[in-house]
Amino acid sequence: MSELSKEEKKALLKKWKAAQNKKYILSKTKVRSLFRYLEVQLLKTACDNTLHFTEQWLENNLPPEKIESVIAEIHEMGGYCDCEVLLNCYEKYDIETC
Ligand SMILES: [Zn+2]
Repeated sequence: MSELSKEEKKALLKKWKAAQNKKYILSKTKVRSLFRYLEVQLLKTACDNTLHFTEQWLENNLPPEKIESVIAEIHEMGGYCDCEVLLNCYEKYDIETC
């Protein structure tokens, strides 16, 4: 592996900082409501490895033009199915799930 140049390091740091300060599209209240919905649904039905219930919730709770960007946000955080949304996403909000 080659050493990173000073410029490359700077760019990486900038990217990292931007990620740290990144604001979620969904508000904390909305995420809490989404998490609750997912918990209830996943108790009844096992996760089918898709964002089925997440998408369902988004469709009922968000304006259609926002849904795509929220799904992109969820993918970015490592949420590729409903249970991964609960496990991996919106950690900064520190929402309790049980
Ligand atoms: Zn899953």
